[in-house]
Amino acid sequence: MGKPVDWEAVAQEGVNHLREYIRIDTTNPPGNEMEAARFLKGILENESISCSIFDPHPERANLLAILNGDGSKKPLILLNHMDVVAAERDKWEVDPFGGVMRDGYIYGRGALDNKGMGIAQLMAFLMLKRSPIPLSRDIIFLALADEEMGGRLGARWMLENVPHLKEAEYVLNEGGGVIVDEDGNLQYYEISNVQKVVFPIKVKASGVSGHGSIPQPHGATEKLVDALGKLLKWRPPFRVIPQVQEYFSNIAPLKWPHKVERFRNLPESLQDESFAGEFTINPIHNAMVRDTIALTVIRAGTKANIIPSEGEAILDCRLIPGISKEDFLEEMRGLIRGTGAEVEVKSDARPVPPSPLDTDLFRAITTVARRRDPNCIVAPALLPGATDSRHFRGKGIVCYDFCPFRLSQSDLLRIHGHNERLSGENLSFGIRLLYEVVEEISRP
Ligand SMILES: [Zn+2]
Repeated sequence: MGKPVDWEAVAQEGVNHLREYIRIDTTNPPGNEMEAARFLKGILENESISCSIFDPHPERANLLAILNGDGSKKPLILLNHMDVVAAERDKWEVDPFGGVMRDGYIYGRGALDNKGMGIAQLMAFLMLKRSPIPLSRDIIFLALADEEMGGRLGARWMLENVPHLKEAEYVLNEGGGVIVDEDGNLQYYEISNVQKVVFPIKVKASGVSGHGSIPQPHGATEKLVDALGKLLKWRPPFRVIPQVQEYFSNIAPLKWPHKVERFRNLPESLQDESFAGEFTINPIHNAMVRDTIALTVIRAGTKANIIPSEGEAILDCRLIPGISKEDFLEEMRGLIRGTGAEVEVKSDARPVPPSPLDTDLFRAITTVARRRDPNCIVAPALLPGATDSRHFRGKGIVCYDFCPFRLSQSDLLRIHGHNERLSGENLSFGIRLLYEVVEEISRP
């Protein structure tokens, strides 16, 4: 037996790495993940772990490192992404790329999405190397580019160019988490095995251009605004898939002990307006039971006194798996009929089936979760967002979106928002949790 692991020192190491990692601005676009990949490579090589950097494009990079197992089982991929979304610097309390530590929290763009998890995976990976336990499978640490823009240069490129990845049995990726209430009390462990379908729609309109001092009816911007108003007022019908019903049946005894019965039959309960109103106040719950539409881009005009001849907007639509995209589009066309604007599909992705739950990895996560929180609920969930898991799931690999941190609803709402942060304590928790899960699933 080696000497016991000093987890506090490991956590401190993780905190230092995360602060430095956040300082590397990988806002995508343009991404610039090469610098981040070199940073991670330096840490890995310091521990004599060889790794490879793949560069699908100048200054874009993916990093892959492998700890070899005995090969009796197929690989597990610890998946994370290096790129982040833009930060509105002036709306933050601290510099989003400063790696600032305040009141025990590491602040910065990417602290949760996804550099914090990347560092938790990295530290768990290093710990496997340092205190060598025999592994039945290869453990792959994979840090990707371009997740925030769809993964063309990241997940998709790597799956096309690195055949070994397709041999993996499991992927552990971002999403889900150890859900706590605002006071930090555990509620349940959430593992996502299915995602909503990304379906971006462009709305466009054209009209006569001219001087702003002489407006004419039916200008492009007027048509666009009219159509957008109608689309944004639309509340698509509730569609409760079995997975989501099960999720709410699972968590209801904890969260709404007085209303358990109502949560056991959501399709029926949601027909009751007052129940539906209360239920959908939570934007995450709302997104789990219906298709959603978010207006994310509007473009028209360049100058105050010129009426533009064209205008367009992009709606980030996310559909409940299994619904027909054609029907959804038709519904939209019906809503904007007469406005003079048009809708078209901006990009289209193939839907991927959910990952099964009857697996050793699901059981391993449950075992580890209950070791620290006996009798806790481990709830599979539908992820309203999209992660790189969809690319791996499409290749038949079992993917679980499970972020190993304790997260409250207000933490989750900071993702892609302002003042994103992760506490050092939480990072420490995540490193150990991941380490134990990997150990559990990779024992010979
Ligand atoms: Zn992410």
